[in-house]
Amino acid sequence: MSRAAFNFSPGPAVMPEPVLRQAAEELLDWRGTGMSVMEMSHRGPAFMSIYEQAVADLRDLLAIPDDYAVLFMQGGALAQNPLVPLNLLGEGGAADYLITGQWSLKSAKEAARYGAIRVVADAAQGGRGYTSVPPQATWQLSRDARYLHLCANETIDGVELEGPPAQGTAPHEVPLDLPVVADMSSNIVSRPIDVRRYGLIYGGAQKNIGPAGLTFVIVRKDLLGRAHPLTPSAFNYSVVAESGSMYNTPPTYAIYLAGLVFQWLKAQGGVAGIAAVNATKAKLLYDAIDASELYENRVDPPWRSRMNVPFFLRDERLNECFLEEAKAAELLQLKGHRVVGGMRASIYNAMPLEGVQALVEYMQDFERRRA
Ligand code: PMP
Repeated sequence: MSRAAFNFSPGPAVMPEPVLRQAAEELLDWRGTGMSVMEMSHRGPAFMSIYEQAVADLRDLLAIPDDYAVLFMQGGALAQNPLVPLNLLGEGGAADYLITGQWSLKSAKEAARYGAIRVVADAAQGGRGYTSVPPQATWQLSRDARYLHLCANETIDGVELEGPPAQGTAPHEVPLDLPVVADMSSNIVSRPIDVRRYGLIYGGAQKNIGPAGLTFVIVRKDLLGRAHPLTPSAFNYSVVAESGSMYNTPPTYAIYLAGLVFQWLKAQGGVAGIAAVNATKAKLLYDAIDASELYENRVDPPWRSRMNVPFFLRDERLNECFLEEAKAAELLQLKGHRVVGGMRASIYNAMPLEGVQALVEYMQDFERRRA
């Protein structure tokens, strides 16, 4: 049995098919232990080996230096919105937030309940919604901020930062001692990153890493130990780090699946290998949209996401028909987010090039039939 459909869901999202096959094979009895992974003690040797391999593979994939801890937590990326200030600001303290879309806006609003939050720039101020990123020279960095928060890829708006902000000693640069905190829910392991340029990286797993229910946090160890005294222990980065993500029972099955995804990713040539495929997929889709009379993407080209491609039909009356026919052609979950409208194709690591080719062919055929 092979799946014919291509699933463009923004998350929970498509998983690599070989991973699902392996999980299915191992579902009842993991490697002769007589137990399913979900039936094992999280502290027993079998699960510990799964967990340790998953952490080691993620470290390898992203070249995570030893002075960074890898934490597997729960609560999703949204739970990190209060947890980042609780853990990094301690009692009192200010932080800077860059707003480039719906998710970073949400992060800043929630964080404001826990500390003095300053918006360094809001991309929507330009009057065209979230379609570009304000030049760094215009950011209003505050002198007393303990960290700068940003969202590396805005899943809803389809806006992606090229990399970390320029860091250095020039006036417009982010001071080297200001930790950059990045929500990478929707572009983690989609391309190489220099982890050293960040103090903390977090996200939900359900796009590029595995199923929902697992949250990853990669944190420089010198940022541990600063938590507000009322931070719940299960969400205190120091406690989670000290217990090897086993302070409470971790989402064991999700960690196992993430581990299988990491191994699959290594077989694709790691993040550098998958990044090349991702670039090809994104170019194919954006080129097709730009060349068409019917479809339109409104994000300024330098900021277009390689993971989430929102697009509009110039005649919005065709929306329902576009989605129905797409579904009949086994192209699934293309409806845009309710805030933005239109369509959105999420083309994460596990979306094969053939899926994007099939989408482009369908879009072109749909347009031709309306000409
Ligand atoms: N940040 C980003 C960039 C996201 O894409 C999402 C989920 N779509 C979230 C935060 C919220 O994640 P969760 O539902 O895991 O809390």
